[in-house]
Amino acid sequence: MSRPQLPTDSERSALMQRVRRRGTPAEVTVAALCREIGLHYRLNVTTLPGSPDLANKAKRWAIFVNGCFWHGHKNCRLAKPPKRNREFWERKFADNRARDARKARELRRLGFVVAIVWQCETTNENALSRRLQSWAKRVS
Ligand SMILES: [Zn+2]
Repeated sequence: MSRPQLPTDSERSALMQRVRRRGTPAEVTVAALCREIGLHYRLNVTTLPGSPDLANKAKRWAIFVNGCFWHGHKNCRLAKPPKRNREFWERKFADNRARDARKARELRRLGFVVAIVWQCETTNENALSRRLQSWAKRVS
């Protein structure tokens, strides 16, 4: 894969604005970066296990963009359980993590290459772009 030309800030923000109507800021960032690196996708693919946030059925890849809190990102400052009802939250996070892992496993069993992107990773777009570019080599 040839290294694509990265967009200017204004190109990137124009694209983000277009995608923003549909997703969380983290999803918007990931969608924009996928576009940039030439990955074609559909958003929120409800016909696949776990309804991946981005997926390409023909190319058999899927990306989940996980909010750190709800998906219980381990050791992440965004996923600190509230002090009240701590046990409830700890259990909820554990359940969500187990469900996420199960969905990813189902997809892999179907031959999909799966990536999980955490919300906290989207604050460093350049690092995430590099990660996605190297991941994309497995799917193209
Ligand atoms: Zn996180």
